[in-house]
Amino acid sequence: MERYRYRIAPKAERTLSGRYAHHQSANTVKPDPMVQQVQVHGSYGSLLFDPRWKARRAEIMARDSSCCVICRAKEELQVHHRQYHFVKAANAFKMPWDYANHLLITLCKSCHQRGHSKFKVPTLSI
Ligand SMILES: [Zn+2]
Ligand SMILES: [Zn+2]
Repeated sequence: MERYRYRIAPKAERTLSGRYAHHQSANTVKPDPMVQQVQVHGSYGSLLFDPRWKARRAEIMARDSSCCVICRAKEELQVHHRQYHFVKAANAFKMPWDYANHLLITLCKSCHQRGHSKFKVPTLSI
């Protein structure tokens, strides 16, 4: 009799779509890992054009002498996040420019893509 209390309640479906809502105009994207990656990293959609990201990106690239920290290439540089931070209180990911210096590194496009195909960027809930 007691056990009926513990019947499985329908899981909230908004867990993932809610988190990404501020990164996308419509919640049509399924929360599969690759899409998450694109949403929180990759292009960041319109956030890529945000002056705050442009400034942060320039800062990190300057620190890394404007070359890939792996192969020292100087072309097609991108700034990679070594972690993603999900801020529980805000129920949202940090803005891309809000990460500490040591979590941002300059990579060329090919090292960047290779890295992402090998490793999953850890997401920390803070
Ligand atoms: Zn490289
Ligand atoms: Zn990356």
